[in-house]
Amino acid sequence: MRGLLLGLAASLCAWSAPLAAGALEIALTFDDLPAHAALPPGETRVGVTARIVAALADAKAPAMGFINGVQTEREPDSTAALAVWRAAGQPLANHTWSHMRLDDHSVATFEADIARNEPMLQRLMGDEDWRWLRYPYLAEGKTAEQHAEARRMLARRGYRVAGVTLDFGDWAYNDPYARCAAKGDSAAIAALEARYMAAAETSLTYARTLSKAAVGREIPLVLLLHAGAFDARMAQRLLAFYRDQGVRFVTLEQATRDAFYAPDVTPAGKTPTTLENAAKAKGVAFGPQGWSVAGLDQVCR
Ligand SMILES: [Zn+2]
Repeated sequence: MRGLLLGLAASLCAWSAPLAAGALEIALTFDDLPAHAALPPGETRVGVTARIVAALADAKAPAMGFINGVQTEREPDSTAALAVWRAAGQPLANHTWSHMRLDDHSVATFEADIARNEPMLQRLMGDEDWRWLRYPYLAEGKTAEQHAEARRMLARRGYRVAGVTLDFGDWAYNDPYARCAAKGDSAAIAALEARYMAAAETSLTYARTLSKAAVGREIPLVLLLHAGAFDARMAQRLLAFYRDQGVRFVTLEQATRDAFYAPDVTPAGKTPTTLENAAKAKGVAFGPQGWSVAGLDQVCR
């Protein structure tokens, strides 16, 4: 009987486990290290980061962290969070010194803000590659000219652009969570948890469907997350959800080897490399993304 059960379990696993070769690949990225959004009472930046890297280690998942050096001045205690991230063997890259929105500045000013972040990255990363830029607010220039000029500047400085092809508005949960925790409103926190997981699920279906429609296959996805307290609280559950979907976690470098991401390093036009833009270019209609952050800013006010 025991043998039969074991055999049944093994065959169920074989049936439900995805084939490694065809598995959907996701590269995890965490923006705004070492300090994102408000903290609940008793929480620290180091604690948040430690929780995230522990979840990553459990899932054997690589993740790229994008830093804003200015936070080490605003919150000196957060500096240690960067060391925690590195001690876990995860890489860091550039999110500009001050979280600058390119569209509101000249490319020269934006470049200076990138350069200001570099000594810190050099210290933290040593010989490893940190020349990736995640645009703050995903703002890639207010005109086609500025977009192209910024791309040329980044190419000259040896940067690759970390685009985003999977996003569910995770950032918007961190401030409400801090407010709800301060009020001790556990029902509201449970509602945030449910909404966060539902948004993650909806966004994955959306991206996979759009990928098949616009690219004709499932491309590796680059997921945007943030180094906030609620992201840390949810990291274990979120990564388990992706693994249950048959996801294989890969590095940003591995994911963006896919030809889909190649135009991202070529300065051409104003259009960032997103699945939506790929769909538009192909004339493929796509539906609403199915998730929103509407109303989260009012939770636990
Ligand atoms: Zn950011």
